Amino acid sequence: TRTPVTVTVTGAGGQIGYALLFRAASGQLLGHDVPVNLRLLEIPQGRAAAEGTALELQDGAFPLVSSITVTEDATAAFDGVNIALLVGARPRGPGMERSDLLEANGAIFGPQGAAINTGAASDVRVLVVGNPANTNALIASAHAPDVPAERFTAMTRLDHNRAVAQLAAKLGVPVSAIDGLIVWGNHSASQYPDISHATVHGRPVTELVDEDWLAHEFIPRVAKRGAEIIEVRGSSSAASAASAAIDHVHDWVSGTGERWTSAGVVSDGSYGVPEGLVSSFPVRSAGGAWEVVQGLDIDAFSRARIDASVAELVEERDAVRALGLI
Ligand code: NDP
Repeated sequence: TRTPVTVTVTGAGGQIGYALLFRAASGQLLGHDVPVNLRLLEIPQGRAAAEGTALELQDGAFPLVSSITVTEDATAAFDGVNIALLVGARPRGPGMERSDLLEANGAIFGPQGAAINTGAASDVRVLVVGNPANTNALIASAHAPDVPAERFTAMTRLDHNRAVAQLAAKLGVPVSAIDGLIVWGNHSASQYPDISHATVHGRPVTELVDEDWLAHEFIPRVAKRGAEIIEVRGSSSAASAASAAIDHVHDWVSGTGERWTSAGVVSDGSYGVPEGLVSSFPVRSAGGAWEVVQGLDIDAFSRARIDASVAELVEERDAVRALGLI
């Protein structure tokens, strides 16, 4: 039998954790032949909810679940971790300035990065879901100098999936017909969902949609989809966020083949994104590592939007630097 893979979920008592853990338990995260140790990290206020989730996981009688642990101790949670899903984050409260938000999250993601640095398995892979995800990933990575920076990623897969779904609906095709879509930049309202390299059944999407729809419907719809879900559902998206986290890790570990997706990865300077920023790019995964798809032409429409989102990432980085968080 295979050695179990240790999967740690932070904020495990929350809405996303609730959806995510069941899919990890059923084999959808790492494969239907891979046993898992599930570690649920929470803060004291979330502990009871995480305990409840753990009881329900037990009741799922999942053959692949080797163990379930609930803890408030980051060192214990990340000891030997292979897959770290950093979901718990500090939401923006009333009257909270951006620097307060970054500082509060620095107090979460700094120590978690340090605990990963000390205890994680040598193959650890980290996905940050908690917002501001890109900058939280940067903070965690800065506190884990012994872990290669490429192992810290931020989730933009939900934005990517939303963009694919909107485009498929517009064109009346199944989502599987669409390839080559890209989300660039920050997981925020400034993100740029780019269809300029997308194809549907191999045909360029740019031949099928006009720029007016793109600029005034598609891009804002995707960027503001989170708010739309809150309005309709009465609470923020959770199962779709969990589903995107599953997709991200599954593709990272298992590979994408030739198809592209989008992920927040540390920049090597590609496409003019300053080195070291965690930014969303077009990526493929092979051999357990993300690689940025190279050599794409970037037109003026795209360039301006990529630059605007990247400028926001630079601002966030400079702000956490000024706060001494990285
Ligand atoms: P959720 O599980 O709904 O969300 C968790 C985080 O994911 C938030 O930061 C949220 O950001 C972010 N997120 C990213 N993408 C999305 C998306 N598309 N839709 C919705 N959220 C998204 O929050 P809950 O409040 O239900 O649960 C959070 C839990 O985390 C709580 O139980 C809390 O106790 C815990 N926590 C744990 C910590 C730890 O383990 N050390 C630290 C801090 C909190 P946004 O708010 O911007 O939407």
